[in-house]
Amino acid sequence: PVVTRFAPSPTGFLHIGGGRTALFNWLYAKRFGGKMLLRIEDTDRERSTEAAIAAILDGLQWLGITWDGDVVYQFARAARHREVAEKLLAEGKAYYCYASPQELEEMREAARAAGKPMRYDGRWRDRDPSEAPAGVKPVIRLKAPTEGETVVDDQVQGRVTWQNKDLDDLVLLRSDGTPTYMLAVVVDDHDMAVTHVIRGDDHLTNAARQTQIYQACGWDIPMFAHIPLIHGPDGAKLSKRHGALGVDAYRSLGYLPAALRNYLVRLGWSHGDQEFFSTEEMIAAFDLSGVGRSPARFDFAKLEHLNGHYMRASSDEELVKAIEVILPEVGPAKGAPAQLSPELRAKFVAAMPGLKERAKTLVELIDSAYYLYAQRPLSFEPKAEQLLADGGRARVAALLPALKALPEWTAASTEGAVRAFAEETGAKLGQVAQPLRAALTGRSTSPGLFDVMAVLGREESLARLEDQAA
Ligand code: GLU
Repeated sequence: PVVTRFAPSPTGFLHIGGGRTALFNWLYAKRFGGKMLLRIEDTDRERSTEAAIAAILDGLQWLGITWDGDVVYQFARAARHREVAEKLLAEGKAYYCYASPQELEEMREAARAAGKPMRYDGRWRDRDPSEAPAGVKPVIRLKAPTEGETVVDDQVQGRVTWQNKDLDDLVLLRSDGTPTYMLAVVVDDHDMAVTHVIRGDDHLTNAARQTQIYQACGWDIPMFAHIPLIHGPDGAKLSKRHGALGVDAYRSLGYLPAALRNYLVRLGWSHGDQEFFSTEEMIAAFDLSGVGRSPARFDFAKLEHLNGHYMRASSDEELVKAIEVILPEVGPAKGAPAQLSPELRAKFVAAMPGLKERAKTLVELIDSAYYLYAQRPLSFEPKAEQLLADGGRARVAALLPALKALPEWTAASTEGAVRAFAEETGAKLGQVAQPLRAALTGRSTSPGLFDVMAVLGREESLARLEDQAA
């Protein structure tokens, strides 16, 4: 059975690239009826935080990515990592190294002078620990092969080969007894029975190192799939400036999780030229052979386009729910409430058909719904103020009696009254409708005017018009 895992280091929020890695692992597991596990790689005690762990779990949940079983915390497994290092030591597959910091610095210096990466020269590989200098705590290093090659048959990168003479004896256990990242990942993936390691291609060289550890342990090596990192639209590695934000930031920007998921799955993976995928379709179609080798480019316009599509495809109720999720965070800054009262909620549902046609994000949608939650006196955008100042107030005042006299208040009845008024006064419909819109919404554009009046209701509509007619 397929077992994948997502293994973030909780040193920051769940980045968009991490979200994509998680999604690929999740889809691959689902596709083959397997499991996706979640391992928090919290061995860096200085930089790992509870807040980052919470943000990662929260981001995954929001994206709709679920994991199987309990979350595994890597730091809690340190004793097991040590046990494996000591077993390799006992079997002669690893050794104590007493090289001092100065010696290592000399090796680093020599490598720098030769323009090569630092390579530990194996000076303690065959020495007897009885020669150990007093008072020095050793590290444990892997006795890596010095001849031949190490091969990774990568599902995305193809067959990648390293000459063993270029790979030095890596540290498994530090002198304080803590495991290195390289050891911890191998032991955990083995113990968790992981069959497929899908992660960013910045880990490709690590895969060679890890392969050597698997071989020393005599364990099966999982399939590796190293996916190209995400780049910005200009081709440079994705940075904050490009939108390398946390997944939580996309939520606050007003994207729907389904849209972001659809966007992320297409970032580096393709399936013909299909653009829209429901979750079921993604699961049915996802495979590693569709993952390309060149970096994917992040494109905000495409994400917005997808989001608009998903918004229009969502039911009015779903959209109101999505808005309620982000209102506490983005509402107050936009002048919107943090929560919808039952009355206001009902207005949002009623107004949604008109609102969702126009918006590409939930934030735009909240903004264009200003008229629903606006408190009198309204604030006016400059264009709306202009419409009212250019004779609009007089028209609104002249129209008011006819609206007040309406026996019932519906989109059809208000439309009838406004049309009749335009005809009687010889004005074009827009010359009446535009100032009316401004007075009711504070804006020069809005969903259909008569729907706006119907949703606002007689009392509130007339009160807003009175404010301008006065
Ligand atoms: N913790 C590593 C990272 O966040 C991932 C390790 C792995 O996937 O093997 O980059």
